[in-house]
Amino acid sequence: MILYRDTRGAVDAPRSFTEAILEGIAPGGGLFVPERLPQFGVDQVVALADVPYHARAAAVYEAFGLDVSAARTRAIAARAYGPDFDHPEIAPVVDVAPGRHVLELWHGPTLAFKDMALQCMPLYFSEALEQAHAKGATDLDFLILVATSGDTGVAALNGYADRAHTRICVFYPDAGVSALQELQMVTQPGDNLTVYRLAGDFDACQTSVKAVFDDEAFAAELAEHHGLALSSANSINWGRLLPQIVYYMSGYADLAARGAVAAGDPIDVCVPTGNFGNILAAWYARDIGVPVRRLLCASNTNNVLYDFLSSGVYDIAARSLVKTPSPSMDILISSNLERLLYDLTGDPARIAAWMGELKTSGRFAVDDETHARLTASFTPEWVDNDTCLETIGRVQHELGYLLDPHTAVAWEAAERLGGDVPVLIASTAHWSKFAADVVRGLTGVRAGEPVPGVDDDLDLLDRVVDLAPGASVPPQLRAVRARPRRFDARVEAGREPVEAALRDWLAGS
Ligand SMILES: *Cc1c(COP(=O)(O)O)cnc(C)c1O
Repeated sequence: MILYRDTRGAVDAPRSFTEAILEGIAPGGGLFVPERLPQFGVDQVVALADVPYHARAAAVYEAFGLDVSAARTRAIAARAYGPDFDHPEIAPVVDVAPGRHVLELWHGPTLAFKDMALQCMPLYFSEALEQAHAKGATDLDFLILVATSGDTGVAALNGYADRAHTRICVFYPDAGVSALQELQMVTQPGDNLTVYRLAGDFDACQTSVKAVFDDEAFAAELAEHHGLALSSANSINWGRLLPQIVYYMSGYADLAARGAVAAGDPIDVCVPTGNFGNILAAWYARDIGVPVRRLLCASNTNNVLYDFLSSGVYDIAARSLVKTPSPSMDILISSNLERLLYDLTGDPARIAAWMGELKTSGRFAVDDETHARLTASFTPEWVDNDTCLETIGRVQHELGYLLDPHTAVAWEAAERLGGDVPVLIASTAHWSKFAADVVRGLTGVRAGEPVPGVDDDLDLLDRVVDLAPGASVPPQLRAVRARPRRFDARVEAGREPVEAALRDWLAGS
């Protein structure tokens, strides 16, 4: 069984898998990391191509020696990666151009790559709670509380809907999410969930929800009156990372099986990066045994990771967030970077010091040796807003493949950096989630300028289909548009209104 320690060295007794995912974040603020990784020979990686995706996932999970039985793990993987996806291969690899292979991670129910983790993690979460109840470690169920700027809330609602021992409540800013994302959330079926629109921007939303997490009296009230403990669906939870490792192993296996790479020969992997979770999963996959040469880290105009990987200095002191066509990458603090730095240094004291400096002064600098290790594996690139949109138009017109703006950032980065080995480009969203910018890209309208004659993304889907031969509106979207709106409550920003909303909801159910 592989146990979990934390990046800042605060945990004395290592945790099991189910303990680590229930705890989420370690005491002291560090992140849980596996003590060691399983090892796969190239033959074992390549053999994954012989079985369906859910069996690939189960094989990887079992190699991690989870404290969940193999039979349960197989059942969980089969349930997570089944008919709710619109593609039988779940995460297919599409050969878009010679040496350019797109790993499509958005065939899940909400059309974004976060489904790859959030269709699976809640099942493990329920399992972990069942075990904790049986052991008498707790008798509480969990209330997942989420502040979202879009994709995470949509995918978390869908993943936790009707999962045993859990409830979920999502708050989204009324100035912030796209019309489509809002529709996906307020129409989500399920008896254990609700959604509130919060007055203000994402910052106000996040601050309000964080204040609820910090309110001990409210936690006691929830436990006493409702039998609930609070938890988040945050991407720093190990339970979100583990499922993401699988698709890089699966992607390599598919490439080898079709002869796009000779088994054992290296590929580059290019990932559109925000919180660093997705690219970190590729790093772990490489350590497990996937022949990956370089990890290409693609950023948008919020290029703090580009600067960090270039200089060894992480500096957000003088930065403010810029709006881009790839909003899920508009992040300044890439939380999962902490896990990589821990892997490279093995030194929790240094990690704690760096994270402390980041918090107090908005800046930290790694030593030369760590920087050299970083650049030996990671190559950064960044793409500005107009180039991102031009890339969507160019790739559609030249190659007949339609990219969403996040994937377009990665495509352009891969073109600039790659060449001599095949590159696997992680595609993180279906184009329909960002149709306005896709229309801009296809018609040559610059980033941020109005698309003539249309109000919101929902009206634009048919327009895209007209402009891009071969593109079609996915069935998940048609289903969403047919569902009734269930939630339209709005709350003011702040801890008290959010707590009042939660009390109302819990009292009524
Ligand atoms: C969340 C997200 C990303 C960023 O992934 P990280 O794991 O945070 O680096 C990129 N693209 C899309 C569409 C996303 O939803």
